[in-house]
Amino acid sequence: MKTIVIATKNKGKIREMTQAFEGLPVKLIPLSDFGDLPDAVEDGTTFEANAKIKALFYMKETKTACLADDSGLEVDALGGGPGVYSARFAGEHATDDANNEKLLAEIGKKGLDASPAAYRCVLAFADTDGATLTAEGSCAGVIRPEARGNGGFGYDPYFYIDENKTMAELTLNEKDAISHRGKALREMAKQLSFYLAKKDERPS
Ligand code: IMP
Repeated sequence: MKTIVIATKNKGKIREMTQAFEGLPVKLIPLSDFGDLPDAVEDGTTFEANAKIKALFYMKETKTACLADDSGLEVDALGGGPGVYSARFAGEHATDDANNEKLLAEIGKKGLDASPAAYRCVLAFADTDGATLTAEGSCAGVIRPEARGNGGFGYDPYFYIDENKTMAELTLNEKDAISHRGKALREMAKQLSFYLAKKDERPS
């Protein structure tokens, strides 16, 4: 059984990861088990770079294999922004409402009221010997100015997955089936299963 620390304080993400890795010979533990740790400096310019920075940083802090993720929204009208700046689009510690207001305003400045967009998620696994695995998932949609639904979080009420349904109108299971994070998790589960089986075969 491989112990893996999940580099997030978000309980929803821990639940999703536990579900995705059911059946794998892994024991997932939260970062909070290690007490107060410093924050990783997420200064990468891509989701992959930031996910790897976090996984390697917390692997070293905890001396335990670590899984981290980075995700965000890429909007065509904004040249792929806000991207890695999605959480802090309207400023450090910005609320979802402030980020959404800025998103619609920036699309408006381009003379548009809607734009194709995609959510993207990269998961990175860092083993105690420094070996890494990465897995990516994306989900296409359209940002429109009318909010719909109370589920999800972040940009979900404005992220239309078809003509008249937003990500915020899906149940957790429905969202997991099509979301960037759900896809990345299923891909990582496959890679981890292969990696751990291979590792088991090697003499120690
Ligand atoms: P992080 O990967 O938890 O740092 O998330 C980055 C930011 O991307 C979040 O704060 C949200 O603004 C946005 N984001 C990522 N995934 C989703 C999603 O599934 N729905 C809505 N917003 C998301």
